[in-house]
Amino acid sequence: MIRFRAPRWRLGLVVILLGASVAVAPTSYAGHGSDSSAGDPDNRDHYIDRNSVTANGDAATQWGIWELNQTYMNATLDGSGDVEVYDDYYGETDWAGMTNCASGYNWLNGNCDVFRVRFNQTTMFGYGINYWRSLGCHEFGHTAGLGHRSHSTDADDNSCMRSDIWPLLFDVHDINSINDHV
Ligand SMILES: [Zn+2]
Repeated sequence: MIRFRAPRWRLGLVVILLGASVAVAPTSYAGHGSDSSAGDPDNRDHYIDRNSVTANGDAATQWGIWELNQTYMNATLDGSGDVEVYDDYYGETDWAGMTNCASGYNWLNGNCDVFRVRFNQTTMFGYGINYWRSLGCHEFGHTAGLGHRSHSTDADDNSCMRSDIWPLLFDVHDINSINDHV
C-alpha cells in the first residue's frame, strides 16, 4: 500500500504545476490543539450528518468513516446526530479543518455527544483528493478522541493525525488508542 506523503515543497510544486492560485499551504489542520478540546465520543456509534457538503467534503467524510470503521467505532451515514459535517469557505484562516464539540450542552459526562467537523474550502482550494482524504482521516480521528501526532511520536511518518504532513491512514498506534478509549 502506498502511503501518501507530501513534503511542503512538493505540495507547493504541485499547486504551481496545476496553475492554481493557492500560494500558501495550510500551516496546520486545526487550531484546536489536543484532543482535550474535542473530547472522547460518548459511545462507539457515530451517526454522521453531511450538511450540504461538496464532493470534496463528501470524499473526506467517506474516507473518515472508512478509517473509523477500522477500529471499534461504528461510523455510518445511516442515522443522525453524532457528527455534524460542514464544508464552507471559512476564509484565509490557518486551518484546513477543525473539529470540536459543538457547544457546551453537547458534553455528556466529560464526553462529546455531538461533534462538529468543518472542512475549510478556502485553504483547501486546489488540493487534490488525497489531501481531502487525509483531512477526513484527521478530523474524524479527533471525533474518536485522538489528538495530534508529531514526528517524535510518529517516526515512520504514517499517521494521518500529523498536522505537518498528509498521510492517508491511521497507524496502529492511532487504532489502538481509539480502541482503548471507546
Ligand atoms: Zn487536528
